[in-house]
Amino acid sequence: MSKIQKMTKKAKKRKDKFKLSNYEKKGILTGKKRMRNSIIIVFLVMTLLAVRIGWIQFIDGDKLKYMAYVQHTLDRKINPKRGTIYDATGEKALAVSATVRTITVNPVNIKKEDKEKVAKALSDIFNVDYEKTLKKVSRRSSIETIAKKVEKEQADELMKWMEENGILTGINVDEDTKRYYPYNNLASQIIGFCGSDNQGLNGIEAVYDTILKGNTGKIIKIADAKGNTILKEGEDYESAIDGNDLVLTIDATIQGIAEKYLAEACIDNNCTDGGSIIVMNPNNGDILAMAGYPNYNLNEPFIPSDEEIKQNWDSYTQEEKSNILQQMWRNRAISDGYEPGSTFKLITASAALEEGITDTDNKGEFNCSGSIEIAGVRIKCWRYYRPHGAQSLREALMNSCNPVFISIGQKLGVHTYYSYLEKFGYLGKTGIDLPGEAGSIFLPENKVGPVELRNNCIWSKI
Ligand SMILES: [Zn+2]
Repeated sequence: MSKIQKMTKKAKKRKDKFKLSNYEKKGILTGKKRMRNSIIIVFLVMTLLAVRIGWIQFIDGDKLKYMAYVQHTLDRKINPKRGTIYDATGEKALAVSATVRTITVNPVNIKKEDKEKVAKALSDIFNVDYEKTLKKVSRRSSIETIAKKVEKEQADELMKWMEENGILTGINVDEDTKRYYPYNNLASQIIGFCGSDNQGLNGIEAVYDTILKGNTGKIIKIADAKGNTILKEGEDYESAIDGNDLVLTIDATIQGIAEKYLAEACIDNNCTDGGSIIVMNPNNGDILAMAGYPNYNLNEPFIPSDEEIKQNWDSYTQEEKSNILQQMWRNRAISDGYEPGSTFKLITASAALEEGITDTDNKGEFNCSGSIEIAGVRIKCWRYYRPHGAQSLREALMNSCNPVFISIGQKLGVHTYYSYLEKFGYLGKTGIDLPGEAGSIFLPENKVGPVELRNNCIWSKI
């Protein structure tokens, strides 16, 4: 066979190979289509899966991570014990912290079928609204507070119920503290009170909050899907650090006496504006008592102390209620301005002695004719009808003679007089560690003329 013939034969064979019957042709076509469809389906499924993975990773990632965290960890706070406030003797506790319980739930760890039962029990035992409790129990959160500062008896009742009903996870009973003031109204405007989270809201409780409050601790428990604690390596405990105690300069006995007589005096004299007493140790400036009337019960700081207001409490607007309470809490001894009257003649006398412009017993150095004229205005002595006549500084102080101290003020002059006010600390605040201290009621030096100076030296209204 020639080479050409061989090739033709091969070609023929190849041609035969592709010479297929119609039946065979149909079969190949169907196979191809199926394969193409399969590839498309696989491609689509893969694409959908990729999109879903992307969605979970980038869109839902944080939410899912949070949900897993919520389900696995049960994060609870441990409240520290707030420091005690003692009086100056260190023996009488004016503010103490008693142990109570706080009830919280971990909604994700309460079974769906138990939620209504749990909400019912909680609302019954702690006298809280059922609907609100059910909402809290049904939330997708790690922790919800049900009741704060409940007594041990109530907490025991809950624990008994949990045991009887076989619900051992998802409800927490933690120790907490509650502020209690053993002397009720005593020194109320000084001590102040705390809010529901034990934070100081007024008085010493607010000023020394960072010292008294201590540091909150926490329990982080890692739990399995059913809410059971994964022991040992899964538990993290950070203990709370209790707050520091505080000893005041206030002596509870002196404070009690001051408050008793202040109340009597205010009632007897019908003082509608209230009153204050400050008792200070003159040797070191310690405040031994600071009484205010009216005052309030520190254990009920949001209940008005005035009986009549209390009876009509519901008829007041929110703003009126707030104003009434602010007035009741107000420490007038440091927040209100007060004109000292004739007692201020002592300051004028001290400045005159220090400046050497007079002495205590220069007989007849001054003269009271019953009045004195300053800037065209005649000021009477309180005993104008029978003038004091010739006076030494000592006699003028004993008689509280107005004309003598006005003339001393004129000799001192505004600038020198103000330099003494400054030295005595009358132009600024005392810096007492209580909130709301008001500034001085003196006019600035450059606004003081002869008339104002006259008023300051004897401290009378024009
Ligand atoms: Zn006089």
